[in-house]
Amino acid sequence: MTGAPIPRAFVVGHPIAHSRSPLIHGHWLAAHGLPGSYERLDVAPAAFPTFLRALPDSGFRGGNVTIPHKEAAFALADTLTPRAEKIGAVNTLVVGPDGRIGGDNTDAPGFCAHLDHSLGEGWPGRAGGTAVVLGAGGAARAIVVGLAERGLRRILVANRTPARAEGVAALAPGIGAALAWDDLPAALAGAGLLVNTTSLGMRGQPPLDLDLAPLPASAAVADIVYVPLETALLAAARRRGLAAVDGLGMLLHQAVPGFEAWFGPRPTVTPALRAKIVADLAG
Ligand code: NAP
Repeated sequence: MTGAPIPRAFVVGHPIAHSRSPLIHGHWLAAHGLPGSYERLDVAPAAFPTFLRALPDSGFRGGNVTIPHKEAAFALADTLTPRAEKIGAVNTLVVGPDGRIGGDNTDAPGFCAHLDHSLGEGWPGRAGGTAVVLGAGGAARAIVVGLAERGLRRILVANRTPARAEGVAALAPGIGAALAWDDLPAALAGAGLLVNTTSLGMRGQPPLDLDLAPLPASAAVADIVYVPLETALLAAARRRGLAAVDGLGMLLHQAVPGFEAWFGPRPTVTPALRAKIVADLAG
């Protein structure tokens, strides 16, 4: 007699060798004493539609989707959560019992959960509820939707390419607006939260050169770049005595809903898990 198959999930991207997701899910499988596997899959863009269509017969319960497949997963999933639909990108796939492929975007709640954890749940009210978001790529889309869900009163988006900022601000109707980069000092003076979603400050990229002096003393600064963990932006925020929130927590918290959907228990982001990923990043 053969037992039930071991639950399997994946992270798919191209390239994928750098992904820390197998470490995160491997940690939780061990912590819960569960059988299961979480595999890295390198799939080139041209092969992604075939990969996705074959999922129901593959034995996988689902998986995470990363660069460059998040938009393709959005276009190809059979069903979407309202949040994924709004963001226009999918980072979590779940194969349903009927073989249909559901797509979700957990970057938005992952970012907000990390702010809850780091700043306390009252963070959306800081300095009257205004957030300034730098960048207008895929991560910015998720974060603006997440911030709007959490009741921010004003979300200002500044980006190198202004037209993209307008598109992202439109994801928060009534409260979102695009901001010219030159107008940042005035906007920062009224902001309770500054978020960097650009790749500036990431290892190998130019630094983000921004004067934080105008921010109110109650403001918090979040950077979603996590290589390095302590970006120059976060170091500058700490020097000013501001609350500083690093990008690793978003990566850890976005993984929670997927693990629960594929393996059962809702996992916890613990200091031990964080320490494991920090050590891996340092290595
Ligand atoms: P993306 O879609 O490629 O967007 C990149 C953004 O950075 C765009 O707004 C782009 O501006 C801006 N940018 C790039 N180079 C720039 C430069 N030299 N000067 C000014 N702006 C520049 O990337 P993404 O997926 O949103 O990811 C952005 C960053 O977030 C990456 O560092 C990624 O690793 C990180 N991230 C972290 C997490 C996490 O869990 N912590 C999750 C997702 C992403 P233009 O529109 O003008 O090109």
